[in-house]
Amino acid sequence: MTKINVNDMLTSYDKKNLRIATVCSHSSLQIFNGARKEGLKTIGISVGEKKKFYDAFPLGKPDEFLIVDNYKDILKFTEELREKNAIVIPHGSFVEYLGADKFSTLDLPTFGNRDVLKWESDRNMERKWLEGAGLVMPKEIKDPKNIDKPVIVKYHGAKGGKGFFIAKTYDEFKKRIEKGKSYIIQEFVMGTRYYIHYFYSPIQDNAYKLSKGSLQLLSMDRRDETTIDEVQRLGSIAELEELGIHPTFVVTGNIPIVMRESLLPKVFKMGEAVVEKSLKLFGGMIGSFCLETVVTEDLEFRVFEISSRIVAGTNPYIAGSPYSEMIQPDLSTGRRIAQEIKFAAKKNLLNEILT
Ligand code: AMP
Repeated sequence: MTKINVNDMLTSYDKKNLRIATVCSHSSLQIFNGARKEGLKTIGISVGEKKKFYDAFPLGKPDEFLIVDNYKDILKFTEELREKNAIVIPHGSFVEYLGADKFSTLDLPTFGNRDVLKWESDRNMERKWLEGAGLVMPKEIKDPKNIDKPVIVKYHGAKGGKGFFIAKTYDEFKKRIEKGKSYIIQEFVMGTRYYIHYFYSPIQDNAYKLSKGSLQLLSMDRRDETTIDEVQRLGSIAELEELGIHPTFVVTGNIPIVMRESLLPKVFKMGEAVVEKSLKLFGGMIGSFCLETVVTEDLEFRVFEISSRIVAGTNPYIAGSPYSEMIQPDLSTGRRIAQEIKFAAKKNLLNEILT
């Protein structure tokens, strides 16, 4: 359905004057900077006022601002944005602020396949997709009475890991669980975390080849999460738990990282498998996506989440990463998105990458 709309919308577009529009948050500096490097004009959608901090970053500042009273008001400006040939680049905050329903029906050409949303936002469908692709996810514990090793309890709809907690026994679980909230219990995977940033192009064949198009590895990061990542400065987690101080998983930043090179074949196999499965399930995801993984001491990957758009973990790499440097110097995910849009516009393939 969205495909038909996008074709209609694109007929009135001046393909030589496309503009990149996104919400001023999350990875917007990178998206605007990447578009600028590719010679595309940009529109920053900002609530209330122009965000002053952009003045400090002239190369990451949008060419113009669209000021809205609140994010839902974007819906009132879709015609104006279409007149400006705007293409929306969704990021995590964009989807969250607008709400998944409104985002799905937003009347603007949007980078990526919006059908992916229902597959990643419902934990059961996400599991069906990722396990169906052959990836190994952390085990789910259906009945808390069966907790016999460390688990992580995740509340539904919790943003940025807020409120998640670790339990090692059923008693601990009972003490911590908040009544009336729905949750899942996952095995807490021991190992080291890698958040892997891929880019899938359904229309270009110049990278790791898939049945349709090709795949790139642009970068990877590790999230910095408060308080779990630094709480040990105060004492061991066990000691702190005794005092009623419980670690949390709220993301505050991102740390650049590379992986031992011998793991890269597995990284590509995982990326390939999720894209191929997505092609079968819902016509394929498009563009940037991230697999959130833990690598165990046996060098096995456990994938606990997928994010099917640009993630903030790509922000350390505005000037390129150790991986993207071997594709093209100075290549960020934001720039790669702008390149894909430019390429598609030139080849008349915009309807293959926008919905
Ligand atoms: P999520 O919202 O699922 O991305 O989880 C938030 C954070 O919790 C992650 O960034 C990890 O640090 C941690 N985490 C999530 N799932 C697991 C797991 N199964 N095992 C270990 N750590 C996890």
